Amino acid sequence: MRPEILFPLFTSVSTLKGVGPRVAPLLEKLAGPITRDVLFTAPTGLIRRSVTTVDQAVEDQVQTFVVTIDAHYPSQRPSQPWKIRAWDGTGFLTLIWFKGHGPHLERQHPKGARRAVSGKVERPNGYASELQIAHPDYIVDEERAGEIPEIETVYPATHGLPSRTFRKFALEALARAPELPEWQDPAWREREKLPGWREALAAMHAPASEADISPLARPRRRLAYDELLAHQLALAQRKASRRSTPGPRIPSGPLSDQAEKALPFKLTGAQIRSLSEIRGDMASGERMSRLLQGDVGSGKTVVAMLAIADAASAGFQSALMAPTEILARQHFETIAAPLQALGLSPVLLTGRDKGAGRSAKLLALADGRHHVAVGTHALFQDDVVYDKLALTIIDEQHRFGVNERRRLQDKGEGVHLLAMSATPIPRTLELTVFGDLDVSRIDEKPPGRTPVATRAAPTPRVPEIVDRLRSAIASGAQAFWICPLVSESDKVDLRAAEDRAADLARHLPGVGLVHGQMPPAEKDAVMQRFVDGEVSLLVATTVVEVGVNVPNASIMVIEHADRFGLAQLHQLRGRVGRGARESSCVLLYDPPLSEVAQQRLDILRRSDDGFEIAEKDLELRGGGDPLGLKQSGFPAYRLADPVAHRDLIAVAADDARLILARDPQLTSPRGQALRMLQELFDWKPASPLNEAG
Ligand code: ADP
Ligand code: MG
Repeated sequence: MRPEILFPLFTSVSTLKGVGPRVAPLLEKLAGPITRDVLFTAPTGLIRRSVTTVDQAVEDQVQTFVVTIDAHYPSQRPSQPWKIRAWDGTGFLTLIWFKGHGPHLERQHPKGARRAVSGKVERPNGYASELQIAHPDYIVDEERAGEIPEIETVYPATHGLPSRTFRKFALEALARAPELPEWQDPAWREREKLPGWREALAAMHAPASEADISPLARPRRRLAYDELLAHQLALAQRKASRRSTPGPRIPSGPLSDQAEKALPFKLTGAQIRSLSEIRGDMASGERMSRLLQGDVGSGKTVVAMLAIADAASAGFQSALMAPTEILARQHFETIAAPLQALGLSPVLLTGRDKGAGRSAKLLALADGRHHVAVGTHALFQDDVVYDKLALTIIDEQHRFGVNERRRLQDKGEGVHLLAMSATPIPRTLELTVFGDLDVSRIDEKPPGRTPVATRAAPTPRVPEIVDRLRSAIASGAQAFWICPLVSESDKVDLRAAEDRAADLARHLPGVGLVHGQMPPAEKDAVMQRFVDGEVSLLVATTVVEVGVNVPNASIMVIEHADRFGLAQLHQLRGRVGRGARESSCVLLYDPPLSEVAQQRLDILRRSDDGFEIAEKDLELRGGGDPLGLKQSGFPAYRLADPVAHRDLIAVAADDARLILARDPQLTSPRGQALRMLQELFDWKPASPLNEAG
């Protein structure tokens, strides 16, 4: 139940003064549906309006003057501006309005009236004597000059809802914010000199200086910590509740030893470590929730297979789920033979299974004849029943919704979860993305891989690249050509990808196109033709499946490489370099390349370690989401900046752990204040936001 004291913040934005049916949807889009969302929207900057006189005015500054209206110069034609000449005793100031402003200006501001005006000061044509303001931000009666703020926060704006209007709403939301009991640890607050919650909000929305709105300023750090703590607390609660659920005890068994001995290679140290962590969890009697992280090609599937063999040794079934049919099939092909050699029976189950064939598979899963099911969403459909499911392995876990993952896990009692991800997340951010999972990292590549030769090239060099592709394809190589898609619904980008495919098809044989708006079956069909070698050059938007293994593909071209996060580029590059051929990756960019973009691409050229790349990218990060974190399930923070506040993440995680250790039910006074915090951010243990397991 939400405490009453928070009600004023959980009202619809339309309850704010001046928010009518036209503005409400705009405000919802910029901030969110409720007053709390407006309150939690941080200003992006600040304008200072110093009060001055014409003779002291500074060009290009936003300044405020008190003037007398001296003359109107109406526009002669609609294309001409309306001008007002004003005088402040030290000089003249011309106020200018373009288009659509007419005689009402003369009625509102008659000759002789005293006005305070504010706006950006310009000197047209460089004439020192001519000072003007085009479209003043404010022009009010002299007595109301006090209403013009000296410091004005700037907010996100949109057509029809300017920053200044947003500011009014933010200040009203601030006025509604109650004093709340303190949930942060007093000793910590004192050490960091953090203000109280309400005080911090006031400093953010009504700052005394630029320093107050910087993410590094104490008010912002206070608010960021609140958000991180709310999130970490929810993750820790979720982890604790899962820990307290018993899971089937699975000791390491003879089958997996046998399977390991049969491998044509030795496990890497990182694989051995990860496997023993997984075994520790499965043998503990508690339910496992573990993430296995490792670059593409680092050997996660083998580790998963050995865990499956352990489960089978103990008489349990496992399910391995992948986001697409083609990935499921590849997993099946990898693990089926080794498992069969152990006398186990794996089965592939996808949307393609229909009718009698499907019924037979389901029957054999239900009576336990199949020990392992590999598949897609088909694995958790209602009529799929397992005899003794004890282990679910989810590849590319962020590609599944929470409910999908849960539906599979609910097919057994206390089913162990092993999630796998190839998205390199910097260590510092790991806690925010996977805070409710235990993490094993495979940070070592199997021996004998040759790094992919990576270089950057300007887009005008495409014809040369096409020439080289032609001879590579003639000698039997295959290639990827990646086009960026900002969002899967972006029509312009989609057209660009289609045009590129059509253009390449004019010059090269065997060109195929795959993109996110294709029906899954069609997508899989094109991918399959690529796997089978019928397609030589696959033009793809970023939907190109991260796990797909096409050893014969040795060239990767990425268009607009500067639009991708480094981690994403690294992942894409991981598609090649898996076979015997020398592999290369070309990063295309539109010249000129900014210095930061150059540095980012250099990192990629020099390093082949996903974690290192992600960490470096974080340091160089500009605006936006260059790490591609949103796609990997990164939480949408409002006040915390995962880069600027990264030092706070680990502190908040420790804090959350300690809080739960001392007060698991949150009943102490601080515990109760923390519940308030969770309500405030809607980050409660059961909320679906960013749930990894
Ligand atoms: P991931 O799932 O992490 O992308 P895979 O498990 O598909 O990686 O492994 C990629 C390739 O490396 C596979 O062909 C696999 O057989 C091989 N491999 C895995 N572990 C080792 C190892 N320790 N030594 C040599 N090759 C390995
Ligand atoms: Mg894989």
